[in-house]
This record gives sequence, structure tokens and C-alpha cells, in this order.
Amino acid sequence: MLVTPAAPASAYVRYRSTDGCPYGWRMRDLPITGYPQGLAGLDEGQIANAATQAALAWSKGSDALGSCTDLDLQVTMQSLDVPAPVAKYDHQNILVFRGDAWCPDPIKDPANCKDAYALAITSVFAGTKSGEIFDADIEVNALKWTWGDLVTTPDSGIKQDLQNALTHEMGHFIGLDHTCYMFDAKHPRPVDNNGNPVPDCSDPTLSDSIRATTMFASADPGDTSKRTLEPDDQQAVCDSYPIGRPDPMECSSVGNSSGCALASPPSPEASAGIGRSSLWAGIASAAIALTLWAGLRRARVRGP
Ligand SMILES: [Zn+2]
Repeated sequence: MLVTPAAPASAYVRYRSTDGCPYGWRMRDLPITGYPQGLAGLDEGQIANAATQAALAWSKGSDALGSCTDLDLQVTMQSLDVPAPVAKYDHQNILVFRGDAWCPDPIKDPANCKDAYALAITSVFAGTKSGEIFDADIEVNALKWTWGDLVTTPDSGIKQDLQNALTHEMGHFIGLDHTCYMFDAKHPRPVDNNGNPVPDCSDPTLSDSIRATTMFASADPGDTSKRTLEPDDQQAVCDSYPIGRPDPMECSSVGNSSGCALASPPSPEASAGIGRSSLWAGIASAAIALTLWAGLRRARVRGP
């Protein structure tokens, strides 16, 4: 029995720090370096276009956002012969494609194994108290999944659309969480911007408006709908990064007594946590879907 009520319209979810502060970048111009190596089926130009358009969806140049925000995600692509670096907390925002190491060593290093059904994962490194984001890395699962540009070259339903997934991941990049909740014993159900508990992803009564959001947690093969932001997603970026705010950081205290002081943290290295979320592959097969839902998790672990 599912008892979580459907969230109202215009709901979005932000990661929050241990003090309840929403995750956010202090900078508005956010560089992302992309490394196209490791992704088969698309050429460099197609990969660059997918990444650039995905970034634009959340940026001030987007027609859909109008003039509500001055956020600007700026993608620079490296050439194919440049090896992809490791995603880690190093103040370098990267987009990489993992074609051979989604799970480098399942026996010796199981902690670094990502779920095979994850399409992509974004690790967001932020101050554990302030929520200020210092680094974010996007990794695409090019080992299990086949990627394409399914608008220019529609597919029968086998492939995943790269721009679709990257637009979702860039929502995580700017600090947004999923609009539905996958049970995770380690992480309580978050609340949305209206203060309502986020509904279960598996709730059959989930509203179409939530399922349609770019920040919904799964994508079916062939899905291209996440390329464009829904009203909820648009509201998220407009509220989180409004144009003209002198200090782009904000902190609306949520049940804490610290006041979420936003003074510079003593040391990013000492205070960084990770919000790590995946875009999951929606699969029609009931058997696989059971595996999918049973295996769903969102890792949020402390950094050093
Ligand atoms: Zn996600």
C-alpha cells in the first residue's frame, strides 16, 4: 500500500546539507570539461552538441528560462585522444564516459562498483554544513548502455538519448535532487520546495507532471522528453539561482539551530560531502524492473 500523497504542481527538490541548507554554487559561471573518449556510436561533434545543449537547458541563454537566472553552465570538450580523468573531489568539473570501468574490480574494490542499471551518475561535492557546491562530476555508463541522438536519428527503442540523460545529470550538477524518492535506509525521504515529502518513484498514482520532469529518476529507452525542462524544473533553477541576487547562496533553515551560517567553510577538503545521484534506466520488462527497483539507491556519503 502506497500512502505517500502526490506532490502538488511546481514541486522540485534540492539536495540539502546536514544543517538543512540547500546545495548551490556560489559562482554563476560554471565550467565543465568534457572528455568524449569512451563513448561509441556518436562522433565528437554529436557528443559536444549533446553536452552543450544539455548545459544550455539550465542556463541563462535558454529561451524557456527567459531572464529569470544568470546561471551559465559552460561546456568545453577535449579531443578524443585525451584520457578521461577520474571523478573525484578536485575542484575540476568533468563529464566523462565510462566504457570499460563502470565497475573496475568487483572483487577487490566493490565500493567503487556502480549499479549496472544506472545510466549516469553525478557526484556533487559540497560543504556538509553550508551546502555550497565546490565540485561536480558527471559519469555516463557507456559500458552497459548504447547511446545516440534519438531526435536526429530515431531508434527502435534500444538506445538511450545522450542529451536526454545529460540534461538530467546537469540538474544534479546544480544541486537538484530527484522529484521522486527511491527507498534508501540510509537516507530519509527528502521534502520538496513546498515542504511536502517527495513521493515514491514506484507510486502508481504519481502525477503525470512529476513523471514528466527532467529530474524524474528514470528514463525509458528512446526517451527524449528530459531534454527540455518542465515547469517544475524551470521553477527550480529560477528559484535557486535568481538573477541579480547579490549573494547567490541562500539558506532557509530547516529544523536546525545553527542558522546555516554561510561564512566560508574552514576547509572544503575537511567539510565536503557528496550527493551522488543516478539516472536510472526505465525498462519495460517486469522481471528486470523488479531488479531495477530493488537495486535502486542513492548514495550520499561523507568525504574525507
Ligand atoms: Zn538522477
